[in-house]
Amino acid sequence: MQCIMKRLLLLFLLTPLVALSQNNFEKHFTENSLRIDFELAGNADEEFAILQSMKQEPHWGGNQQALIPKYNMGDYRITIKNLDEEILYSKGFNSLFREWQTISEAQKINRSFHHAIQLPYPRDSVIVSINSRQKDGKFQTLLKWEVNPKDYLITQDKTPHYPIDTLSYAGNSSDYLDLVFIAEAYTKDELTKFQKDVQRFKQWIFSVAPFTKYKNNVNIYAILAPSQDSGPDVPGDSIYQNTLLNASFYTFNSPRYLTIRDTKKMYDIAAQVPYDHVYVIVNTEIYGGAGFYNTYTSCASDCRNAEEIASHELCHGLIGLADEYYTNGDEINYYYNLDIEPWEPNITTLIDFSKKWKHLVNKDIPIPTPRIPKYEDELGAFEGGAYQSKGIYSPMQDCKMKTNNTNELCPACQEAVHKIMQTYINN
Ligand SMILES: [Zn+2]
Repeated sequence: MQCIMKRLLLLFLLTPLVALSQNNFEKHFTENSLRIDFELAGNADEEFAILQSMKQEPHWGGNQQALIPKYNMGDYRITIKNLDEEILYSKGFNSLFREWQTISEAQKINRSFHHAIQLPYPRDSVIVSINSRQKDGKFQTLLKWEVNPKDYLITQDKTPHYPIDTLSYAGNSSDYLDLVFIAEAYTKDELTKFQKDVQRFKQWIFSVAPFTKYKNNVNIYAILAPSQDSGPDVPGDSIYQNTLLNASFYTFNSPRYLTIRDTKKMYDIAAQVPYDHVYVIVNTEIYGGAGFYNTYTSCASDCRNAEEIASHELCHGLIGLADEYYTNGDEINYYYNLDIEPWEPNITTLIDFSKKWKHLVNKDIPIPTPRIPKYEDELGAFEGGAYQSKGIYSPMQDCKMKTNNTNELCPACQEAVHKIMQTYINN
């Protein structure tokens, strides 16, 4: 009884807060979205954000009660402030550009990578900024400009009209996670296969704990968009196909790195439905995928271990988890600064382990934890992770963010999934 009273009291206390944040949304934003297309460009030492276009799109799938993220995640951040410099909305994200900056080509030339982000559509003039996380973990502004929502140069081009298959509907897009799956490299005759593939992916993803707990809290749409050719580009085998989103293996010469070249078209198609995250299923038996935090996820439809990769890549794209794998000796000089904690929830430099999963570790487990059979099934902090064998520690000796030998997430990754999923759900 006392417990019920407490709950009622809590409900009473929470209700005005929810109403307040709802009012805050309605005060500042409409139900549409402001789509910003921009390039992240530069080389190994310099980066720029270049505005391409602004457009009004019909839906904004985000959580109207969580306009400012609870967790400080992402290599980049887009922010809306009012003219009094108060933050109204903010969102972290990752870019392929940041990875490209670490390869040798970036020492020689400038390149640019397209992005598009939907913001809630402002009612009044606002300041939008694109910010980049620096080596010290702090953000630097790359581009800042004023947006007048009544500007007629903000286009209102119609969205495409591909058929939409609704696989799950939990409720209002603001109160649930909205996932949109898009077909890539499926011909018109193969779209029935795509519909079956999406069912398979849905089943695979929501059978991995703790996504299992959220399967009734997700709206899932599939957009049946045909390509002229079947199967994506495989440049290493001189295969170049005419497909809708121009998906390609061999990104940065990595055979299995399957990315989307025409991201502009991808977001045009996604705009048909309210979405939080875009997931592209690429029709191929070749092993591969990719996931960029709050940008998009891609995965091969029929390769070996497709079941394991389907959720692994979504953990990058939606949850912001890092890879826990690394190679001994053959190091990738990645961008982790070992003097600070990386923002990804499942890796640590042990600089401030209490901010990570320390609270989940048994008191008798040594930190760092030796990679020996004694600690095979224990949570600890094992050296090696995020492509580096030294200085970065990961939570377990194996996890689905490390290998396909297991289809389970370690407790640190599971906690991160809970935290992020709850930011999408109001109930
Ligand atoms: Zn893990």
